[in-house]
Parts: sequence; C-alpha cells; structure tokens
Amino acid sequence: MKLSRACTLLMMRLSLITVFMAGCAEMGAAPPPVVSKRAQMLMGTLVTVTAVASDKSMGDRAMQAAFDEIKRLERLLSTWRPDSELSHVNAAAGHQPVQVSRETLELVVRSLEMAQLTHGGFNIALGPAIDAWSVTDRQRIPDDEELQRLKPLIDWTSIQLNIEARTIYLPREGMRIDVGGVGKGYAADRAVEVMRRAGAKGGVVALSGDIKTFGILADRNGFPVGIRHPREEGALIAMIDLNDEAISTAGDYERFFERDGVRYHHILDPQTLQPARACQSVTVIAKEGTMADGLDTGIFVLGPEQGMALVERLPNVEAIIIDQEGKITVSSGLRGRLHAP
Ligand code: ADP
Ligand code: MG
Repeated sequence: MKLSRACTLLMMRLSLITVFMAGCAEMGAAPPPVVSKRAQMLMGTLVTVTAVASDKSMGDRAMQAAFDEIKRLERLLSTWRPDSELSHVNAAAGHQPVQVSRETLELVVRSLEMAQLTHGGFNIALGPAIDAWSVTDRQRIPDDEELQRLKPLIDWTSIQLNIEARTIYLPREGMRIDVGGVGKGYAADRAVEVMRRAGAKGGVVALSGDIKTFGILADRNGFPVGIRHPREEGALIAMIDLNDEAISTAGDYERFFERDGVRYHHILDPQTLQPARACQSVTVIAKEGTMADGLDTGIFVLGPEQGMALVERLPNVEAIIIDQEGKITVSSGLRGRLHAP
C-alpha cells in the first residue's frame, strides 16, 4: 500500500461538554499534520486549545496566539477589573457617556441585537439582579420588593450608544453592562481567528462549554462534540460533528443551589428576575461563538416553543432544547447530524 496512516486520538473532558476528536491524516509526500493540545485557566474558566498544524512549532505558535488573544480580551471586557473599558462605562452610569474602542462597542452592539432577537431574554444590563441572587457566592433568595426596585436598572432598552463618537451611556446610576453572557463565545471566535493567521490548518478553542472549531481532519466530517445530559452527571445525550462552527450550552445544572427542594440557578428571566424555568438546557450551534453564546442564554429564557421558532427563522443557527420535563427538541437543520454517544 502506497499510503501509510497516522492517527491521533485526543479526548478532552470538559465541565459542560465533552469534546472528542480524532485526527487521522493520510501520508503522501507531505508529513501528516501535527495535533497539539494545551489547557490554561483564563476568564475564570478552563480554556483548552487544540491546534492542527503542519509541524509542532507552528502548532505551538498558534496555541500561544490563542491564549494571548483570550488574555487580551479578558483585560478589555471583564467587569471585575476596575480598569477595563466596560468598568469605566459602568462607573459613569447616570453621569456621562464614555468612549470605548471599536471592538468593545461592536460587542455591545451585537449583544443588543441578541437582546432584540430574544425579546429581552438575553440582557446585558442584568448585573444588579444577578448580584442580588449571588448564586455562586452568598446564595440568597431576594424578596420581590428588592427585585422590583432593581427593575429600572436592568432596562437594556435605555442603553444609549453613539456609534460615531463611539460612546456608551447608561442613563441611571447603578446600571451596569456585563458581557459575561457572550464573552466566552466571542473570545473563542477571536482566538480561532489568530490561530488561522498563525498558520494552523484546524483546531478547537474551548472555554469550558463554549467551543469553536475550524478546519477538519482527514477521515472525519469535522470535530465531534458531545452534548451533555442536564440531569445525569457525565452522561451525553448525543454527539455532533462540527465544521467551522461554534457550540454553546446554557444549563440550569451549571451553577445552582437548592433550598426546600427548589433549584435556584444562574440564568435569570429578566421579566420576573427569578431563575428562568422553561428549560433544563439549551445548546446552540452557529457559525460564530458570539451568536451561539448569546442565543443559548436568551433562548433558555424564551422557552422551547418561542426559542425553537426563533432558531428556525435564523439562517445557520441550530439548537437542541431540553424543556423542564426533559423533553428534547431538535431544530430541523440538525436532523441527521446527531449521532449516539
Ligand atoms: P456561562 O457559560 O458562564 O454559564 P452563559 O453564557 O450560560 O455563561 O451565561 C450565563 C451567565 O450570564 C450567568 O452566569 C449570568 O452572569 C449571566 N446571565 C444570567 N441570566 C442572563 C440573561 N437573562 N441575560 C444575559 N446574561 C444572563
Ligand atoms: Mg450564553
């Protein structure tokens, strides 16, 4: 046989989604591509980068470029750093507009578009309500009066953008913008871009469950990714091969506490300011991580019927929605693409 084969099997166990990838390359004149993988904690989460490149040093450079890019975005966008652009915008709430970079403005514009698409299900002004619950920290159940008082602060429709002057103005003191709900998906998009520029042929950038893939490996249709069962730890409901696509899951099992048999989790319905109750998990597959990450949270709030109707209207967006009873609905574009784990 003229062709010899080299195969690499990599298995990455992630907290939300498990990614399996198998790289097989046929050797002709050129040596087989090299698959490398590295993980690092960034943006408060485990970031795993896989590069497929013609040699090891190119793969290493591409992975380093991805980590550097995610570090840059962490500095630019995080709101727990007082010196970030969005922290300046938040500090000036109720006082004056603040000029930001084109990139920050663009991400806020995209976030507001997703708020519009999901009828406010996705809301980047929700910070004060998220703090009141403090699901990961103090785990308190705020009373209705307290939540009602916060309502004017979480009104995303009152955010004022001046595109020419590149300014953002939050009209009430105490308002805040937090792009945490799209930040990981956006970071995955940008990291893939720098990996491509560094010469990688393919790869995966996974910020916990926010995953973006590019390129494919010979012998496979894409990069296989597992979709987690929302109630059975470690179990998958299905696998899918991704081709230059992103996937993101919002689940009520990610961060929650239980009191008197009730689960209180980290995705809030901006209308009630209570944890959204219509779904157990929403997985969105889109061309861009930004879209997948923003929509999964928004659709989680919208619920299975309205959420799936939105997905069917949007080109290149697919979803797997698991409702409160555990019933699974799959968008029309995914039929035939899911396979058993
Ligand atoms: P993660 O991957 O960090 O869980 P998600 O994309 O699932 O992020 O978004 C959930 C996070 O977004 C929550 O932890 C909270 O900070 C914030 N959030 C909660 N509810 C909403 C909402 N309705 N709209 C926008 N952001 C939200
Ligand atoms: Mg999200």
